[in-house]
Amino acid sequence: MHSTVVVVGSGFGGIGMGAALRRAGMEDFLILEESPELGGVWRDNTYPGCNCDVPAHLYSFSFAPYRSTRTRYPGRRRTLEYLRAVAADAGLPAHLRTDTALTEATYRETEARWELKAANGIRMTADIVVFAVGQLHRPNIPELPGQADFAGVSFHTAQWNPAADPAGCRVAVIGTGSSAAQCLPSLSDSAASVRVFQRTPQWILPKPAAEFGPAARTVLRLPGAQRAYRWGLRQGADTLLAPIMRRGWTARPAEWAARRHLRREVADPVLRARLTPDYPIGAKRIVFDAHYYRALGRDNVELITAPITRIVPEGVETADGIRHAVDMIVYATGFRAAEFLSPITVRGRGGLLLHEQWDSGAKAFMGLAVPGFPNAFLIAGPNSFNPAGSNPGMKEQQIDYIMRCLRWRAHIDAPAIDVRPGAMAAYEQWMDDALARTVWSSNVPSWYKHRNGAITSPWPASARTYGRMLRRPPAASFAPVTSADVSSERIMP
Ligand code: NAP
Repeated sequence: MHSTVVVVGSGFGGIGMGAALRRAGMEDFLILEESPELGGVWRDNTYPGCNCDVPAHLYSFSFAPYRSTRTRYPGRRRTLEYLRAVAADAGLPAHLRTDTALTEATYRETEARWELKAANGIRMTADIVVFAVGQLHRPNIPELPGQADFAGVSFHTAQWNPAADPAGCRVAVIGTGSSAAQCLPSLSDSAASVRVFQRTPQWILPKPAAEFGPAARTVLRLPGAQRAYRWGLRQGADTLLAPIMRRGWTARPAEWAARRHLRREVADPVLRARLTPDYPIGAKRIVFDAHYYRALGRDNVELITAPITRIVPEGVETADGIRHAVDMIVYATGFRAAEFLSPITVRGRGGLLLHEQWDSGAKAFMGLAVPGFPNAFLIAGPNSFNPAGSNPGMKEQQIDYIMRCLRWRAHIDAPAIDVRPGAMAAYEQWMDDALARTVWSSNVPSWYKHRNGAITSPWPASARTYGRMLRRPPAASFAPVTSADVSSERIMP
């Protein structure tokens, strides 16, 4: 089986890519999806309270803008419905191959084609492969001694056990990131007790109400108002949030707002002190939330800050020797975000293994292409996560650029194109300089970083800057791979 393009993954990146291919009149493509249905993280995360902490009018594609005069922050089900509707409107179901987990992608130099193998035995070839597998979907469950002996039920937030009813249970939530903040209020509504195990306090900025008030609704009914609102959100994210990521005074207003939120929500000074971070705001992904602090103040909720030493049959043991008896452990412990494309084995020119090349931290030109891997593109690749705005927006910019690369390749009639090593070197230099000026260069661990400390996830500037850099024509950064290259050259050491 051969397709001109194979897209891997059907979250926002894969659906956006498929829609762009259809708009360009392309029919010969497949979208491979390892799960039984499309949707990415919005399909996977079914924990109670799951919703989007970016306003949906911004967290949507420009070619299918979210429209509502009522809802500002939809729940996960509504976001999943949005994605399904985009896919249906673009005619993507006919291109989707579900239950097809790609395991291997190998570039065959003589044919300038990708050979693809999936776990279900399907083999295919493609001229172009676009990896849109995301990075926040492989659960990070810490290995704690005694885990296997736990007598209750335990699961990760992204693998919520629908049969496990927290009503009347004693629940442990390990972790205090966005997933924990979103599920705690719902859990504490029905659980007998919830103990929240905090290793590091989070910076939390208040999130506006999920529904618009009457005045905003009236305004949003005016012609063009929702488009203007979306534009304003994008400008706001670039102007107000992106500067937080730089070190120094630009982060002060946000830190002040977060401290004010904490003061308003938590009356108890001792609890407030335990919830106050001692690292710069933005060093970890900021939590946007309005209900977490208040939930922590409920009578049936307790914050535990003593480090976890092990799991025991009856619950969680902490370094102070206390055994916290629980029936259910919820691992809100995040994702193995630095392991881009894992567990797919990707081989490029000369048998080059992508994961060997990325051993000390993933890198890709503009987050979307790697020298030595011709005709392969990434959506949401290294250093292209926007911590201060809309990631569907970043993905859309990547998709536009990939489409320009495909048009350029067709225009010059090249079997394959590859990133020029010089363009990659210049980009890496720019990236190193830009990252050195950010708050992430401080010694704070987070999912933004590889285990060796390399900063591999976030984009260090505004979305506007990203768009500006992608305006350069593909010919400035890519080169056709000639048959002479194919036979004699091994691009990377
Ligand atoms: P996360 O931000 O990585 O948080 C993981 C939490 O688990 C942290 O508090 C971490 O503590 C803790 N942890 C990890 N290992 C631990 C251990 N061995 N012992 C104790 N605590 C441990 O993960 P997340 O909350 O799932 O969020 C990940 C990302 O997904 C977010 O940053 C966001 O980008 C995205 N997300 C988005 C939304 C949305 O609404 N758009 C919702 C949920 C998630 P430390 O801080 O000490 O490492």
